[in-house]
Amino acid sequence: MPWRYSPDLNKIFCQLAKTCPVQMVVDSLPPRGAMLRATAIYKKSEYVAEVVRRCPHHERTPDSDVLAPAAHLIRVEGNSRADYKEDHVTSRHSVIVPYEPPQVGAECTTVLYNYMCNSSCMGGMNRRPILTIITLETQDGQLLGRRSFEVRVCACPGRDRKTEESNFRKEQEAKTTGKTPSKRSIKESSSSTPRPEGSKKAKLSNSSDEEIYTLQVRGKERFEMLKKINDSLELSDIVPPSDLDKYRQKVVSKTKKEKDGQAPEPKRGKKLMVKDEKSDSD
Ligand SMILES: [Zn+2]
Repeated sequence: MPWRYSPDLNKIFCQLAKTCPVQMVVDSLPPRGAMLRATAIYKKSEYVAEVVRRCPHHERTPDSDVLAPAAHLIRVEGNSRADYKEDHVTSRHSVIVPYEPPQVGAECTTVLYNYMCNSSCMGGMNRRPILTIITLETQDGQLLGRRSFEVRVCACPGRDRKTEESNFRKEQEAKTTGKTPSKRSIKESSSSTPRPEGSKKAKLSNSSDEEIYTLQVRGKERFEMLKKINDSLELSDIVPPSDLDKYRQKVVSKTKKEKDGQAPEPKRGKKLMVKDEKSDSD
């Protein structure tokens, strides 16, 4: 199998240019003409404004897909109605397909994606982790739902998934015991609640807060500044909870160092963790 999905990491591991099936679940049937859009963004905030594109080597390598522009990382496989877009403001690449209701008896629609570079490609992703954002949109671009997952394109999806999950468990363990990671693995976390294996399911939820507003800004500098703020907010919406915890941990340890010797006092609702206190995350 050229791909693996890790529910713990909310991450797909897949091989270059191989079929990567993503199942789409919707709460209610979207209006006629609705579309599913896939966009790749860099996961880390310092790169989030940069457009994810293929590396120069792969971009120049000819292939048989006549629909897809050579610079696009994400392709849709086996769908002649796939439409490749480049946003005229952000220059971001995306690919859209018309939303199709599930086949009779099925509960989800499956879209087959291909990732056309390795995560390690020099001059492209260059080992920087990416997220794929799936949006469900009306014909005129109104957002109906959104989900995201991390993607690693690599030669050995099975091996890399195992390694990263084991590292993740060690981190979790270190967090709850307050000790440095040890070889001992946590039994409970590996036998936790059963989750569906198989294809990644992107459940697109409707939210009242998803309406898009347009703001006109005078001056490029001011625009870039506001764009940066907006990008960060967008990112914080889609970063998986497990990673948010990691960022919080960082903030906490930094605050602890600064306040060395003093009793930490909570401010602005940010939760400070005291030594020996257990993390309340799951
Ligand atoms: Zn490449």
